[in-house]
Amino acid sequence: MNRMPRILIAARTNPEGFATLFRAELPEHEVVTAVPDDGAPTPYVVVGLPPPGLLASLKGLEVILSINAGVEHLLASGEVPPGVPVVRMVDPGLVAGMVEWVAGRVLAWHRNLFAYREQQAGGLWAQLPEMLAAERIVTVLGAGELGGPVATMLATLGFAVRTWSRTPRVVPGCSGFAGRDALGDAVAGADVLVNLLPATAQTIDLIDHRLLSRMRPGSLLVNGGRGSAVVDADLLRALDDGVLGAAALDVFRQEPLPGDHPFWSHPRVFITPHAAAITHARTSVAVMAESIRRHERGEPLANVVDPARGY
Ligand code: NAP
Repeated sequence: MNRMPRILIAARTNPEGFATLFRAELPEHEVVTAVPDDGAPTPYVVVGLPPPGLLASLKGLEVILSINAGVEHLLASGEVPPGVPVVRMVDPGLVAGMVEWVAGRVLAWHRNLFAYREQQAGGLWAQLPEMLAAERIVTVLGAGELGGPVATMLATLGFAVRTWSRTPRVVPGCSGFAGRDALGDAVAGADVLVNLLPATAQTIDLIDHRLLSRMRPGSLLVNGGRGSAVVDADLLRALDDGVLGAAALDVFRQEPLPGDHPFWSHPRVFITPHAAAITHARTSVAVMAESIRRHERGEPLANVVDPARGY
């Protein structure tokens, strides 16, 4: 008798919830949350950051399905068996979350909500100067699955949007910049800088004081990508010398953000706990199940990570 192909849910968050949804999507598969000691192959594993040794211990592994869009931790673990594809999370729920989170930060700053909150603390009733969205330049670093829709949303709201990517990308309604040499031009004069780059050797420390100084004074940094892109000390200096007006940060070099980090108490740093775009079990299981179906039909997998590129 043929065995049902096994799917191991090794994600730490809500494994039973994921398993229930997988069983409904793929009833011809065996879905487990721990590997039975039966020596049978496990062609599919669903992971965030798996415990050390887990991936190497799986017999017959064919596809690693990541519940995260960013996979730098998986690649850095050195535990991905050579030749086994990692499919990263590309999911409408994640896109919706990031679009909303960035829209929330940009609009709150653009319409002076942060500044009015400060005024409120002092009981001050005074209208602040405003600009039209069309008078503001927003630069989005990363024009991929998240950066693209975020740029489109901001352009729809009327902002003058630029995108910056590794290779040339066309996002309707936005000006596209590509490659390291074009970074300075992409950021020059921007009112808002949104980071949606993956963490790679090329993006580490990219956002430093020099780059921030190219923006319009008093501008906003929004980081929804990864903390490694930002030089923390430079960001604090830029806030304190007026280069930046505010920073909305969701991701940090160390997470959770250590209790003594100066970001916590800075009046113009707005922190969320890596919550900009969370993986929703329902939408993400539909996407992962479709990857498994494609694989079993012999079709090429979508959204496979390129280990050499790092994303
Ligand atoms: P993606 O589709 O792979 O897009 C990445 C974009 O970054 C692409 O446009 C890529 O350029 C560009 N890029 C990569 N390296 C670059 C470089 N060296 N120079 C210039 N551009 C570069 O990834 P995604 O799905 O949009 O996700 C982006 C990141 O968001 C993830 O890696 C993750 O770190 C982060 N994220 C955060 C949260 C959260 O809750 N805060 C949630 C999900 C994801 P090309 O188009 O030329 O390839």
